[in-house]
Amino acid sequence: MIDTDSPPLCPHCAKPDFLCVCDSVEPIDNRVALLILQHPQEQDRLLGTAGVTRRALKNAELKIGLSWPSLAKALGRDANPSEWAVLHLGAAHAKNLPADRDVLVLDKKGEPLPDQDRALAGIKGVVIFDGSWAQAKTLWWRNPWVLKAKRLALNPKKPSLYGALRREPRREALSTLEAAALALSRLEGRPEIEAALRKDFSAMLDKYRAALASGAVTPPAPTRGSGPQRRAARKRPSPA
Ligand SMILES: [Zn+2]
Repeated sequence: MIDTDSPPLCPHCAKPDFLCVCDSVEPIDNRVALLILQHPQEQDRLLGTAGVTRRALKNAELKIGLSWPSLAKALGRDANPSEWAVLHLGAAHAKNLPADRDVLVLDKKGEPLPDQDRALAGIKGVVIFDGSWAQAKTLWWRNPWVLKAKRLALNPKKPSLYGALRREPRREALSTLEAAALALSRLEGRPEIEAALRKDFSAMLDKYRAALASGAVTPPAPTRGSGPQRRAARKRPSPA
């Protein structure tokens, strides 16, 4: 919600001007499509990255909502979920991940498929849920068509650029932008995608740090109750 005292928000990244980096973003022509599904209550306007990610990729959609009847409806065009991958929620906890790979396809039990090159080949698009861990899990269960997609796990070698800025435990250590950058750059074999997106993210964080220093923003509250305790309290079985 925007009240009348708030500064206008950028139509691309939904951030106030002092945090917007859209003018310096050079959008990348990505071959593998990206669909970001954002939980309506995702409230991290200041540090969230979904809008910047969409801005940085020519072939990307950002949709806000809880459920869509199919991938095609969510995307707004024809698409077959079996040709897509969904970023797997349990990725950070998956065991037995080969050390030499940072993007993997998992089977329904959460184990890496034996022939990764074959599993990764031909993926036409990636779905990423944007929100806290609990919000992303809600989106997973509300959109059963994702079960038809391949499950993509990230095993990042580099820590998130967020560093200490974000205190809340997320479903992944990475931001939505970093997760998309890693997945797309590996799927396309183009490291420059990851480099460019991380540069945009870094510019955004520089602006955030400057805003913190000037008092334009205050540090985020420590938690919104979406950490492991809340996760353990859920009654539904794990999607893994
Ligand atoms: Zn912007």
